[in-house]
Amino acid sequence: MTPLSNSIDHLTQTFRESGLRVTHQRLEIYRELMEARDHPTAEQLYRRLRGRIPTLSLDTVYRTLTTLVTHGMVKRLETVESQARFDTTRQRHHHIICKRCNEIMDFHWPLLDETPLPGEVDSWGRLDGVNVVVYGVCARCLAGDAQPT
Ligand SMILES: [Zn+2]
Ligand SMILES: [Zn+2]
Repeated sequence: MTPLSNSIDHLTQTFRESGLRVTHQRLEIYRELMEARDHPTAEQLYRRLRGRIPTLSLDTVYRTLTTLVTHGMVKRLETVESQARFDTTRQRHHHIICKRCNEIMDFHWPLLDETPLPGEVDSWGRLDGVNVVVYGVCARCLAGDAQPT
């Protein structure tokens, strides 16, 4: 797999290709999300960015994420939590979510990605993506269960 470039030039290009106006704040929000491994909420992103961008508002983070979702650059993850979690769509991957600690881990499933969809799905309409979400309880939480309280 080729490493993804996080350079400003490369990101600017990505924005242009998606038909998006490039602003400093948009770039920074997208880059922060790209480098995050924990699928943060909008508020977490805001807290991480506000030291670097003092003029940033939480509202801007929300609006930017919504715009990026609309343009297919960011994915809003469906979780059981009240706050949405976000991820970039640059690398195709699937998710496994711990129902206890809400950790979201990425995993790759090339075999599935190459499998054609059943005919009735294929003819349904325009398909934008296939993502698998696996739910369960992670090993750390399971280990915690085993310990006496
Ligand atoms: Zn867990
Ligand atoms: Zn992910």
